[in-house]
Amino acid sequence: MKAPKYFICILLSVVPFLTIGQKNNAVIIKNLDVIQTSTPGVSNFWLEMGVNTYGYPMLMPVIVIKGSSSGSTLGLTAGIHGNELNGIPIIHELLENIDFKKLKGTIIAIPGLNVFSIQVDERRFIDEEDLNRNFPGKKNGNRSQQYVSKINELILPSFDFMIDMHTASFGRINTMYARADLKNDTLKLLAKLQQPDIILNSIGASTANGAVSSPRTMRAEAVLKGIPCITVEYGNPQVFQKELTERGLKGIMNTLNALEMYGNNKHKELVDKATYCKKSYWIYMNEGGFLEVPVELNQRIQKGDKIGIVKDAFGNILNEYLAPEDGIVIGKSTNPSNMSGGRIIHLGIMY
Ligand SMILES: [Zn+2]
Repeated sequence: MKAPKYFICILLSVVPFLTIGQKNNAVIIKNLDVIQTSTPGVSNFWLEMGVNTYGYPMLMPVIVIKGSSSGSTLGLTAGIHGNELNGIPIIHELLENIDFKKLKGTIIAIPGLNVFSIQVDERRFIDEEDLNRNFPGKKNGNRSQQYVSKINELILPSFDFMIDMHTASFGRINTMYARADLKNDTLKLLAKLQQPDIILNSIGASTANGAVSSPRTMRAEAVLKGIPCITVEYGNPQVFQKELTERGLKGIMNTLNALEMYGNNKHKELVDKATYCKKSYWIYMNEGGFLEVPVELNQRIQKGDKIGIVKDAFGNILNEYLAPEDGIVIGKSTNPSNMSGGRIIHLGIMY
């Protein structure tokens, strides 16, 4: 008679921990120091990123793949924008395809940086701020600034190289393209290894001509810290796209190969089919209306080609937009309903 009672007591004491920990064997941590002493293999962690209203820690998933021998640390970060999810299945596929016994060094993969916004299908953080425009953040700042500060201090310094995984945002679609400062040979190589459709020259400091005192992207912050980092845009928002997952995984494997962390230098045989762009910009609507975009992703267009047709509610054509110069379609609007200022296409200008 005593045994079942005893068993129930044990079960009740364990159950609360099962909800977070046991299924994925994840340990709650306050920083990534534990990686130094962890054994080779895959370890899952929940990193404390602040405290919610009810006094519980906000937990970020961190996957560490530690190799059997020493080498570089590659950081893979997905979902700093909460509606940009394609990086997550790339990380999951990597887990299925990599053998840690053959890995030199460590991969730290974060399948969801913006833990709050991913669960509510939002791009921005809880205070409507864009985390990726707020680096380095502030330790005693507002909500997004404190969260960014934790990413900046707890996560980025662990990386030797970094790939930040994005997609288009709501109402738009993207090619697979990489953003990197192409004056830097390491960054150019990292971009090329992803075998994207387009490689776009971009320094990643979003404001004030890259002045280091102004808020900037996570990529710019990493590069300022001396960590080579590129951004890769993998297609479309709020979906898992199989084709892009496969292409993304190949890119990560190429990267591990080139960093001498995995495989045998096969990256040297890669065929570079990417279109290189020296700059890019969005073209916006001057009026409100219903937009049709008669060009496709990756389409090369010439100055004067029709890129947008805007109609009013009665079906009258209000305006037809023409390409202002030759270029390639990096991204485009998929949302017909637009007020003035609505986006039409993201035009890349080739070298
Ligand atoms: Zn993004």
